[in-house]
Amino acid sequence: MLTLQTKIEKLYGVGPHMSKRLTKLGIEKIEDLLYHFPFRYEDFSKITPISKIVAGQDLAIKGKILQIKNSRSPRRRIFITEALIQDQTGSVRAVWFNQPFLTKALPKGTEVILAGKMVRDFRGMAIQSPVYEKVKAEMTHLARIVPVYPETEGLTSKWLRTKIKPLLSLTGKIADFLPEKIKKEDNLVDLSHALREIHFPSTQQTLAQAKRRLSFDELFLIQLKAGKIRQSLKALKAPKLIFDQKLIRKLVGSLPFKLTNSQRKAAWEIILDLEKSRPMNRLLEGDVGSGKTVVAAIAMLLAAHRGYQSLMMAPTEILAIQHFGTLKEILKDFSASVALLTSAKSDNSRGITVNKKKLLNQIKKGKVEIIVGTHALLSEKTKFHKIGLVVVDEQHRFGVKQRAALRKKSNLLARMIPHLLSMTATPIPRTLSLALYGDLDISILDEMPPGRQKIKTSVISPSRRGNAYQFIRHQIKSGNQVFVICPLIEESEKLEVKAAKKEYERLSKEIFPDLRIGLLHGQMKTKDKEKEMIKFKDGKVDLLVSTAVVEVGVDVPNATIMMIEGAERFGLAQLHQFRGRVGRGKKQSYCLLLTDIWGDKIKARLGAMVGCNDGFVLAEKDLAIRGPGEIYGVKQHGRIDLRMANLTDVSLIKETKKAAEEVLREGIEAYPLLGLRLRDFIEERHLE
Ligand code: ADP
Ligand code: MG
Repeated sequence: MLTLQTKIEKLYGVGPHMSKRLTKLGIEKIEDLLYHFPFRYEDFSKITPISKIVAGQDLAIKGKILQIKNSRSPRRRIFITEALIQDQTGSVRAVWFNQPFLTKALPKGTEVILAGKMVRDFRGMAIQSPVYEKVKAEMTHLARIVPVYPETEGLTSKWLRTKIKPLLSLTGKIADFLPEKIKKEDNLVDLSHALREIHFPSTQQTLAQAKRRLSFDELFLIQLKAGKIRQSLKALKAPKLIFDQKLIRKLVGSLPFKLTNSQRKAAWEIILDLEKSRPMNRLLEGDVGSGKTVVAAIAMLLAAHRGYQSLMMAPTEILAIQHFGTLKEILKDFSASVALLTSAKSDNSRGITVNKKKLLNQIKKGKVEIIVGTHALLSEKTKFHKIGLVVVDEQHRFGVKQRAALRKKSNLLARMIPHLLSMTATPIPRTLSLALYGDLDISILDEMPPGRQKIKTSVISPSRRGNAYQFIRHQIKSGNQVFVICPLIEESEKLEVKAAKKEYERLSKEIFPDLRIGLLHGQMKTKDKEKEMIKFKDGKVDLLVSTAVVEVGVDVPNATIMMIEGAERFGLAQLHQFRGRVGRGKKQSYCLLLTDIWGDKIKARLGAMVGCNDGFVLAEKDLAIRGPGEIYGVKQHGRIDLRMANLTDVSLIKETKKAAEEVLREGIEAYPLLGLRLRDFIEERHLE
């Protein structure tokens, strides 16, 4: 007997071949198949009487096959199948090519529905290459609203429909995990009903209801999870790191600049969090160059002062090295010592490369207060003394579990975990952060330090490419450096790398044979990437060609041009991130957006980059234009894998938030089914 847990290879007509393809889509059991949602529908519910057909239209007709026969085309290369279909209002021809088996599949007398395009040829009207289905009580492919599934090679919607349709009766066995009360309050249909209607909708209205219900589920579970994290954090303790005004005044006073108001505000929010015995869970959001590092430094100095270590984790080794340099500089007048610990390097604050074993020992004994490194810090056998604060730069998978694991590597008391400050340069629109980061408190740096040069941005049409190269040559001749970002190729990283190599060849052989060109791509070894980046930073390379996947988060103050090829393929937010890589020094910098496709829409979108320098505004625009999945960083955050819900649907987000809060207030234990579903959800999505 089939159940929801039955493996798909047990299904009739699903051999090893097909099950492999299904597995590729993440479909392993029947339940997964039911949750493999269509991404659009075709409305074949309307049947046109043959007397009303019009040439040039896509339509469906229903009738009896009066005759059907095969012939060969005049040049005998193709089979032509011709049939005559009749309904009560008239008759019309149907024509197919190279499907001679149709004379057997649809013999004379068969009642069929055909859908396709009406054409007029020299013999009159005909429906050309129509899809067909025999008339039955229950139609699967025609005479209804028909689902179209996201397909992978060799898995057609037609095939999926025939497999999914007979399984719909099983939806009755899916226990609805949503409490009745919520369903009533929020006007939601039953889960089993929704699952049936999402695949084979009876009407557009029931389809809309199904979508709403399934979207609600996704957002609701996200909110519930966030709420649960908040709750569990409340039950945990963290060291109280009490503010010391004199110390922080001294630090702020020693900086070569005045903090911006938003830096002050963010630092203050963090300080208040650190004073609590509950663990901080805060996201510091600020555009590239908005000055997040110094805000983090304030928190880390405070922790050190109170006898706790801080860990600062960067996504790459180069960035760790950079942070290390910055922190050493900021904290040079203080006794807190900073160390760099990556798999390749270990430095203490005096910039002396020390024996790694020695450093590990110092860290363990608590002689080093601020430890900068990569994620490797966690996996290694590093032992810490007492970690009071973790700062994570541009990594989004650091959660309660990781903090609990850190406690074990450190002498923290039971039920105590470090405070967490997560930093990101991805400006995430408010509406989105509400949904994505419900478990985090958010501080935003929404102003840039004064005196920053505006980066001059221009969109370069294909005909002006030559001018752009001249300009680049001119800049390099005056001692500046240039980034060239290659187009994003979504299909595969391999293709992307290939394209980058080709661009590198082209630039170094044809365009700038006299200049020093470097190449950076995602398939290089980390060590080689770093080497290349350091060469660029040290001025040994004039122009660096890079793929989009490479994190170019490194500060190269001497770089003044960011040239982005295939700019139309990137989201605004991501273009803005690239742009932030230049203008780090005092010199006027430029961002050149190249595109080979030239249309009004692209012009308008890229034009937004020219007119706007604010990452948040651009992110909002991106959200409006391209939808949340495309917002740079959101995918990488691994925080969403929404199949149905639309993250721009603010009112639904609010509803789900409210519902989740209510459930958590009552205690989720009151709803065992919901509890189970939530557990699955958290595991499925690997959010932490
Ligand atoms: P990000 O937010 O991208 O991490 P950083 O912390 O690296 O930014 O800061 C970028 C640059 O701005 C650094 O060189 C830093 O010293 C400088 N900076 C930070 N805050 C200010 C400020 N208030 N005024 C002037 N310069 C600042
Ligand atoms: Mg930074």
